[in-house]
Amino acid sequence: LGRRINAAVSDLTRSQNLDEKAFDDMVKEIGNALVQADVNVKLVAGLRLSIKRSVNFKELGAGVNKKRVIQKAVFDELVKLVDPHNEPYKPKKGKANVIMFVGLQGAGKTTTCTKLARWYQARGFKTCLVCADTFRAGAFDQLKQNATKAKIPYYGSHTQTDPVVVAREGVEKFKKERFEIIIVDTSGRHRQEQDLFDEMVQIQRAVTPDQTIMVLDASIGQQAEAQSRAFKETADFGAIIITKTDGAAAGGGAISAVAATHTPIVFIGTGEHMLDLERFSPQPFVSKLLGMGDMAGLVEHVQSLKLDQKDTMKHLAEGVFTVRDLRDQLSNIMKMGPLSKMAGMIPGLSNMMGGMDDEEGSLKLRRMIYICDSMTNAELDSDGKVFVSQPSRMTRIACGSGTSVREVEELLTQHKMMAGVAKKMGGGMKNMQKAQGAM
Ligand code: GDP
Ligand code: MG
Repeated sequence: LGRRINAAVSDLTRSQNLDEKAFDDMVKEIGNALVQADVNVKLVAGLRLSIKRSVNFKELGAGVNKKRVIQKAVFDELVKLVDPHNEPYKPKKGKANVIMFVGLQGAGKTTTCTKLARWYQARGFKTCLVCADTFRAGAFDQLKQNATKAKIPYYGSHTQTDPVVVAREGVEKFKKERFEIIIVDTSGRHRQEQDLFDEMVQIQRAVTPDQTIMVLDASIGQQAEAQSRAFKETADFGAIIITKTDGAAAGGGAISAVAATHTPIVFIGTGEHMLDLERFSPQPFVSKLLGMGDMAGLVEHVQSLKLDQKDTMKHLAEGVFTVRDLRDQLSNIMKMGPLSKMAGMIPGLSNMMGGMDDEEGSLKLRRMIYICDSMTNAELDSDGKVFVSQPSRMTRIACGSGTSVREVEELLTQHKMMAGVAKKMGGGMKNMQKAQGAM
């Protein structure tokens, strides 16, 4: 998608007569690319209008970098679509927060409820899981297995066939035991069926959740709008989690779901592993969708500051991003400031620093640098996989740097994500620079 949009913009900026017709054609081509990436057709029509409105083509002077202006307009309009400006529910400590999952079968509910439980557990909440899926054979065993691995208390039944009873009993039990996050996993069906919706409503009445989360598979495509609308009408969820964003799907369906239901995406699933859950934020998501990567903007900015970037640039061009590259980027950011702005340019980092002021943020960055500095050269120059195969290394590094294993884990998650972006961009960096140089 990103390539197609970039190509459309390049065609325009390269063509001799930059007339309005050429601009219209370009906007049309961008629209087609977005529809193919599963963004809802009607949304795209609206988007085309707003791009035209926000880029006043006639007024773009000769010296203006038209490509940048147009790319930025596309970016901004997509961010607007995926950001509903509705705050999701924030669990509070010291009380029972009941969270109920809904979604079709296979969407990733059971996997994600353990990920989310683990996420809250790592942040000091007393967390547990309730399996109210009595529909699918083996559903309870799946949850039990995940929960045991993550050391999270769970409730379920092999004999009780009424999901409403299991949900009520489980939530009551855990409330009595003063659990703070009680996540209720429910069953799905292959399609939206009346009995699924009836069951959802009954469970909702029985456990009165503080938050209902709809789990949506990123590969759902153009069905995302209708599906999320149907669930919203019945179960009125207050948040969305998009799973399987690590897959081949372009993810435009997510945008359609948000736009159709005015409901925020709170997390995205990025793999099958328990740690593969990231807080959602609109800018990095749209960057990824467009395939631009904020990384490009960051590298550009860093270059303009004449910081030492040779190795990282070379690596990025090859699609490689080592732990040492991350360390260098972190220390460059420290030099550049203001931190809040810079962090926003690195995918994922802004989430991690969410709500921190510049001072807290730099402390966090410094701790990340300490972590890197406690690594061996071989570890720094690696792709980070050695830590997965030998987790004891993380404990050693946490001790050595005066940080916690969780922080080391966080840094490695951050690195993994950036390495993923770098890999995708691969040789693309070189082409991009060439294209920009040609303008
Ligand atoms: P449920 O029917 O909604 O409970 O779905 P499950 O949690 O059982 O997940 C269905 C499949 O999707 C499983 O094989 C999961 O491992 C897989 N899955 C869930 N989330 C993700 C994700 O973020 N990335 C990938 N690659 N797979 C996922
Ligand atoms: Mg399930």
